[in-house]
Amino acid sequence: MKLINGKNVAKSVLEKVKERTLKYEKKPGLAVILANNDEASKIYVNSKEKISNSLGFKSSIYRFDKTVTQGKIISLIHELNENPEVNAILVQLPLYKHLDQQQIIELIDPKKDVDGFHPINVGRLNCGLKPYAVCCTPKGIIKLLKAYKIKISGQSVLVIGRSNIVGKPLSALLTLEDATVTLAHSKTKNLKSLTKNADIIISATGHPKLITADMITKGTVVIDVGITRQLTGELVGDVDFEKIKDIAGYITPVPGGVGPMTIASLMENTLELFEQQNKRQE
Ligand code: NAP
Repeated sequence: MKLINGKNVAKSVLEKVKERTLKYEKKPGLAVILANNDEASKIYVNSKEKISNSLGFKSSIYRFDKTVTQGKIISLIHELNENPEVNAILVQLPLYKHLDQQQIIELIDPKKDVDGFHPINVGRLNCGLKPYAVCCTPKGIIKLLKAYKIKISGQSVLVIGRSNIVGKPLSALLTLEDATVTLAHSKTKNLKSLTKNADIIISATGHPKLITADMITKGTVVIDVGITRQLTGELVGDVDFEKIKDIAGYITPVPGGVGPMTIASLMENTLELFEQQNKRQE
């Protein structure tokens, strides 16, 4: 078994981002909107703020309580779209249930859409055109595979989970890397026959121990995107790590695998959007 250390790879991505940022007099601006009461989201947003400040970015966090209206968020998005100091806009999902998430995402200027969730960026990715920004978790996973020189081209890759933020964009990126992709979900029949025949398994369901030792062929690369907080407070992935670690060729731990890469990609996307906007102004 070879353990994939996402923390180390993310650290080196962030070091490069910091180095590139130092070259500029003006600093990249990241605006984050937090409109939910979810503890995990609050922790993610605090850590995004801390890391972006450590890179020398100008970050601003807009926190709202549950009395916030759709109109208030819409006018903030318009303001941020127009603000030249803001290069990247992130709406932390999920939003309070009374807010229309899709309408809000579609109002973000695609050139400032740091998560790559706007339909223009999703569409460009699926057409094989360069989006302004590529979704952070899928981008981080591809970087992780490449950092460990894991072959993607021609490999059978099984992606489990078809969400708009992980599974679908990841399938598009892997296809661009010439992988043969199978996208499984909760209605998929006989998941075990698919996992047994895959060269690479990437699981993103939030279903602890979905992937058990009997489903893995020796040498398979196993990437665990899932994060579930147990009642004990422990974070676990989708994969039965302890039983699989000696069968897999490579495996990511949870935490410390894909998670740090998502944040590193977010910071890299912020810098890339800043650079694209500067270039357009030249
Ligand atoms: P989501 O929107 O809830 O989607 C979950 C997907 O998993 C759905 O497509 C669902 O199928 C599929 N699924 C659920 N149970 C399944 C089963 N038993 N067999 C096969 N497929 C099953 O979740 P998400 O936002 O993509 O997140 C997935 C997990 O990744 C969560 O644990 C989340 O916390 C984690 N995550 C981690 C990071 C990171 O940086 N590490 C980033 C994002 C998300 P249907 O479509 O048929 O319902």
